[in-house]
Amino acid sequence: MGRYTVNFRCHSCGHCCTDVICLPTPWDVIRMARETGKNPYRFLEFITPDDIDGVEKNDPTWLKVKNKRYMMALKRSAQGCHFLDKQTKRCTIYESRPLLCRLYPFKLEETRDGEFKGFSLHKDVGCPKNRDGVMDTEPLYEIYKEDAEHHEDYDALVAAFNGRDYPGKKPEDFIATFITIRQAKKKAAPATAV
Ligand code: SF4
Ligand code: SF4
Repeated sequence: MGRYTVNFRCHSCGHCCTDVICLPTPWDVIRMARETGKNPYRFLEFITPDDIDGVEKNDPTWLKVKNKRYMMALKRSAQGCHFLDKQTKRCTIYESRPLLCRLYPFKLEETRDGEFKGFSLHKDVGCPKNRDGVMDTEPLYEIYKEDAEHHEDYDALVAAFNGRDYPGKKPEDFIATFITIRQAKKKAAPATAV
């Protein structure tokens, strides 16, 4: 196992919840809906390439509807994420927040052979990168692996959605595809947890 610590301390500046677009996976959305009781149609939005920088055109999570591309994101306003308490600047669903929020602002480092090497701080994000603390990164690796597995399934769901065309197709229809799948899985295997 590579580096266990990174010198960093979060100073709760709020940048990552105000200026960064959060892209949850379907499994994040299912967990958030289940644990908070909130309706995904109320807390998700579908953004276009004009709304976000840094996502490649060929990213497999772009949803395609009538020759336009959309990406599933947490709804936000000029004050930040839908789930940010605008007074306290705290996340109101902290225990249920998406895996991406749990990983931020850390970046996985791998060896040339794709082996885990450690974590560093992202260079291209606006986090102040305060170095006056020590973060244990071992739990981050477990979150990273879980997120990577979810992304494989996410890609497959998007491919299935993109492969279908029907009158009135909307990007929001994507929500029903994984919520339906989840419900179907539940019927087949009631004990399965996400
Ligand atoms: S941007 Fe960095 S310092 Fe600011 S709240 Fe997020 S993690 Fe903490
Ligand atoms: S879900 Fe919570 S932690 Fe994630 S961006 Fe929104 S307010 Fe921040």
